[in-house]
Amino acid sequence: MNIHEFQAKHILRSFGAAVPNGQPATTGDEAAMAFSALKVPKAVVKAQIHAGGRGKAGGVKLVSSPQEAKAFADGLLGKRLVTHQTGPEGRLVRRVYVEEASAVARELYLGMLVDRKAAAVSIIASTEGGMEIEEVAAKTPDRIVTETINPLIGLSPYLSRKIAFKLGLKDKQVNLFATLLSALYRAFIETDASLIEINPLVVTQDNRIVCLDAKMSFDDNGLIRHPDIRELRDPNEEDPGETEAAKYDLSYVHLDGNIGCMVNGAGLAMATMDIVKIYGAEPANFLDVGGGANTEKVAAAFRILLSDSRVKAVLINIFGGIMRCDVLAQGVVEAARQVKLSVPLVVRMEGTNVDKGKQILAESGIKVIAAADMADAARRVTQAIGVGA
Ligand code: GDP
Ligand code: MN
Repeated sequence: MNIHEFQAKHILRSFGAAVPNGQPATTGDEAAMAFSALKVPKAVVKAQIHAGGRGKAGGVKLVSSPQEAKAFADGLLGKRLVTHQTGPEGRLVRRVYVEEASAVARELYLGMLVDRKAAAVSIIASTEGGMEIEEVAAKTPDRIVTETINPLIGLSPYLSRKIAFKLGLKDKQVNLFATLLSALYRAFIETDASLIEINPLVVTQDNRIVCLDAKMSFDDNGLIRHPDIRELRDPNEEDPGETEAAKYDLSYVHLDGNIGCMVNGAGLAMATMDIVKIYGAEPANFLDVGGGANTEKVAAAFRILLSDSRVKAVLINIFGGIMRCDVLAQGVVEAARQVKLSVPLVVRMEGTNVDKGKQILAESGIKVIAAADMADAARRVTQAIGVGA
């Protein structure tokens, strides 16, 4: 789960991290009041959406009066902000954050994440702050420092200082950095975070080290231990299909292609996506309906697939083990009754009660393109949208 910058900063501040003072606002007038309440000559007004790249996209501005804060906030609120991370449709700005401005001397990058390869938490730091770390990694990999934290030892002062030196920090900055890093690490561990990204982390002109931006993501499986963090979920920022799928306990991830895939079993779902790609098309989603899905769950999954306007054809690939083919067929028929099925539907079924399943589909009157095997299914579904061979 992701949260907004102002929420992440609130959490990090509570762990003692150096974060500028700020207040969220949902109207221009609130932004003006927030500016006045900060009692500073300059503030930064920042669009709050779950996406980076706001600075370049015109979503961040330095302001020097309540009137200016209001004017900029009014220009952002209720509009869609398009950044390189939002896709062309952009994100609706419902809130801005008004924060005391910092006089920046240096911009650094600092990330902390669950590093699956190392099976531990790793710190990624760079002297190239304010840039996308992926870009830095591609162009100047030598400017990235990666250090893994031994979970038994925790974050040692030695490791913090080592990173500080590699970032070119000096004197008092080194201890400030170490203090900040240990606050971030405690926040990371105690909230079951999966990612903390501070980009940029800045050295100010008066020699402080401050989190100018903050992104936090949490392990969904840990949220049960943090009801206060779970409250921060913003459904407006989540994919509607994924939100709906979560209600039915379906594993669904929205992707960019146009072949809707409904599969049981994560491995089979991955293989199905692969074979769709081999035949020249792109999957619109990952969807695992699970082993013991009932008719209701299958119907919900099918509805979610079809609610994606990019889906131009659907491929159902089911291996009936615990999941019975007749249950699957029943669910599809039910869902097709609820939503008008207007795209080609290719079905490949195998396994328990397959004949009964095929019979249900045949008698339903739904136009089904039956496939003999996975390759045949991929060929037929790509042909149905006019690609592939
Ligand atoms: P992002 O573009 O969505 O990652 O938003 P950021 O919060 O990182 O802000 C973008 C850029 O605005 C930063 O890289 C800074 O260069 C600049 N910026 C943000 N806040 C301040 C501030 O308080 N003072 C100064 N001088 N620059 C700021
Ligand atoms: Mn940033």
